[in-house]
Amino acid sequence: MLKPPDSPYALSDPEAWRHEEAPLYAPRIVVTPAGVFVVKREDWITSCRPARLADFARLYPGAQKQYRLGWGGFQLPARVPWSMLAQAVSFFRIVWQKKKREDVLLLYYDTVEKQYILEHPPVLSADQHHVQYDVPATSSTRIRMGSLHSHGQEHAYHSYQDKQDDLASPGVHITIGDVEACLPTIACYGSDGDACFQVSPADIFEFPEAVSVPKEWLADVSADRSAHPRLKGERL
Ligand SMILES: [Zn+2]
Repeated sequence: MLKPPDSPYALSDPEAWRHEEAPLYAPRIVVTPAGVFVVKREDWITSCRPARLADFARLYPGAQKQYRLGWGGFQLPARVPWSMLAQAVSFFRIVWQKKKREDVLLLYYDTVEKQYILEHPPVLSADQHHVQYDVPATSSTRIRMGSLHSHGQEHAYHSYQDKQDDLASPGVHITIGDVEACLPTIACYGSDGDACFQVSPADIFEFPEAVSVPKEWLADVSADRSAHPRLKGERL
């Protein structure tokens, strides 16, 4: 039985709720082969319904944001440099402009140099809706962490085929769409070999380098505006 502190819910035996005689005013989460249910008894009437994500949020009130959103997560050796994402976008944009087709880059982590490496694998076939490629043998000092591939002018998402590919290759898989736009779209998925799940780009990439801003703007931010005529109701 699992009952986190301050939680109104508890995990319960799948069959126990049918036999318990004492009223259960606190909902219980029941795990069964057919799914996960919430059992609640009030005024001697017991209900049993499929559990929703919100029920689990109540089970673990201190859960991280990714769990509340229903996303998966990844703990990588380090965040991937933002510059690599920018480099991939630039490459995919050039390929689209020259060939009107998708392309792909493989993401590796070098365990000796302790840094990420992007490599362009041999492309076997590609058009504006797919890219098929060979995966070269990985050297002993590298770990294949995943892939980045383009969707050309289409929005970034993981297609059925993308998910099938990702299942065969555990790691992080990033789709970049709208490659000609000033702000391309990005969709990040993880695969553990059994399932694909959405992850936040914040789990994968470093924050972009800060760009300097005018000092006057910052001076404005810290300025005390309480004496401003408009706040005192005066006409300007
Ligand atoms: Zn795709």
